Amino acid sequence: MQRVKNFNPGPAALPRVVLERAHAEWFDFAGTGMSVLENSHRTKPYEAMQADAAARIAALYKLPSTHEVLFVQGGASTMFATLPFNALGDGKRARYLVTGTWGEKAAKEAKTVAKLLGQPEPAVHSTKRAEGWAFASVPAQGSVPFEASDAYVHLTTNETVDGVQFDLGGPAALPTVSSPLVADMSSDFVSRPMDLAKFACVYAGAQKNAGPSGVTIVIVDKAWADACRNDIPVIFQFRTAIENRSLYNTPPTLGVYLVREVARWIDEQGGLVAMEAMADHKSKLVYDAIASSAGFFTSPVDPAARSRMNVVFRLPTPELEAAFVKAAEGEGLVGLKGHRIVGGIRASLYNAVEETWVLDLVDFMARFRKLHGH
Ligand code: PMP
Repeated sequence: MQRVKNFNPGPAALPRVVLERAHAEWFDFAGTGMSVLENSHRTKPYEAMQADAAARIAALYKLPSTHEVLFVQGGASTMFATLPFNALGDGKRARYLVTGTWGEKAAKEAKTVAKLLGQPEPAVHSTKRAEGWAFASVPAQGSVPFEASDAYVHLTTNETVDGVQFDLGGPAALPTVSSPLVADMSSDFVSRPMDLAKFACVYAGAQKNAGPSGVTIVIVDKAWADACRNDIPVIFQFRTAIENRSLYNTPPTLGVYLVREVARWIDEQGGLVAMEAMADHKSKLVYDAIASSAGFFTSPVDPAARSRMNVVFRLPTPELEAAFVKAAEGEGLVGLKGHRIVGGIRASLYNAVEETWVLDLVDFMARFRKLHGH
């Protein structure tokens, strides 16, 4: 069997051992004599597995009991709307830090919801530039006028399309705010240790570091969720999922199962500390290849805010970029084409992307550069 070196942005590479274990259990999940797909979600084996999935995520983050791990459907895009529906009220204004394409979408949905609910329009602080690579940085520290009365502050810890990531310290550090902090962590969830207790709500589509598409992981402060609106449909209220342990309606059972297996694998690898070390190492390999290319490869992103998950770079012309993607595919290096709205090259280096694949990519970059006279 020929498996490629998969740099897809999401859905993305899954750890091989996770696929092997799921394969081994495919016809007989937990001794039930049927696959996980065929089990009812109202059975002990399924419920135990789902509770284990949530407990494993909580354990990876050392999450306190103030917070709950939920599994919902609809992707992070649905959360863009669910969040303001739950959390806007009392005439308070939400604040959005927009550092890329996804944050921009989140802020737009919040604006629509605020209007529907008769609440003030969210304040938006965007780092978008008129020229060149649109999003290349996070807001300078002290530049955003946070107010204690903000309904919540929303940010995207890693912008998947633009290759921009908040750091945990230094010039691109996550801000400290006194109002509820909410983060879309879709593309850097379970990639580094982080104190999630300081967030009112964190959400992530699983299909990058944590599992397959179809399951969205939400980590929510129970007291905060309890204070959210209760005049919206019950299916959209965070408290419904909390009170029903994510079993109010049929959960995405296969997705939850795979998230559990990925969480187990992360733990076996040494947890989030090990994930972060590998992410630092793998992304440094690519950023070093860019830096030592005498300008053939260029990174458009502010060095302080460069993503360890999605490394974006450019070649001298769009034609060379297309040739790069094609030649890379010929060597089994797939998924390197940049997002259609920004172009360029993007190497997504999620947890399951193996170091040897990145070494092969870096070697390919050097050969491609020489071939084109640099
Ligand atoms: N936010 C981020 C940071 C993402 O990377 C993505 C998906 N690429 C989304 C939101 C949208 O997620 P979904 O497709 O699960 O709705």
